[in-house]
Amino acid sequence: MKIGIFNNETSESQRVTKLLRDEIERAGLEYDDDQPEVVITIGGDGTLLSAFHHYIDSLDRVRFVGIHTGHLGFYTDWRNFEIDDLVDSLVQDSGQSVSYPLLDMHAVYSDGSVENFVALNESTVRNITKTMVCDVYINNQLFENFRGDGLCISTPTGSTAYNKSVGGAIMDPTSIGFQLAEMASLNNRVFRTLGSPIIFGSDAKLMLRLRDDNDHVITCDREQMRQKNEKGDRHLVEVTYQVSDKRISFAQYRHNNFWNRVKDSFIGGAK
Ligand code: NAD
Repeated sequence: MKIGIFNNETSESQRVTKLLRDEIERAGLEYDDDQPEVVITIGGDGTLLSAFHHYIDSLDRVRFVGIHTGHLGFYTDWRNFEIDDLVDSLVQDSGQSVSYPLLDMHAVYSDGSVENFVALNESTVRNITKTMVCDVYINNQLFENFRGDGLCISTPTGSTAYNKSVGGAIMDPTSIGFQLAEMASLNNRVFRTLGSPIIFGSDAKLMLRLRDDNDHVITCDREQMRQKNEKGDRHLVEVTYQVSDKRISFAQYRHNNFWNRVKDSFIGGAK
């Protein structure tokens, strides 16, 4: 089996990377960053997000494993002192995996250019200087006029990240769909939005059509999309979201209960 390693820059991640490489070699496994079958990330959730985008074109043949060097993560199941156990699991690997849905985003700009991205956690559309004004279409029908800071569109596994901070619901990661959560919407007698998060099913299409060309920021996980073209004269016109045909797969060597992880991370010692 071919193993790739993707680590962040901290000294602890470098140390664990060296240790892991030695153990992979000792166990007779093949180290291959170019065509890996299993990618082991070393760092935190952010490192796994970066690895996901690095291997985005190989998602159909790559399974991920996350080692965390800091706090417990949502995508990282192994601790930095469990390298021996992890390598034993790799040696005994029989191809087992668990996969989760992703979010396709299709952005259209004023110069006619388009960009397509796939998000593991979420995409946000925000205005950095003024109130964001946009029309929200669900399945090609106008649903509401949004005014506020912005909108967060998240995957089921991303629902515990930014989405949760802006009041979105936590989704069971085995469900197929995506979620829209408002960021500081303006609600008064004149302007009105639904005011609660919406969870969409697998076939839904969500489109945000921006009303003006002010400083919009569109993000996909850790990345902010390039807004300007070479001449610096394009702006975001609309973004469409739907469940992606692609999925992310994790090599499942141990059973981690998602709701225990939510409880440990956000509640702590409930009795
Ligand atoms: P970061 O290092 O600031 O990470 C933010 C935190 O989000 C970390 O503690 C990380 O463990 C956690 N996280 C990431 N994915 C998660 C998930 N699926 N469920 C629960 N927690 C998760 O930033 P980064 O490493 O560049 O990560 C980017 C992510 O940070 C974005 O995808 C977004 O979800 C999140 N973020 C959150 C906020 C917020 O909560 N206000 C703001 C910006 C970005």
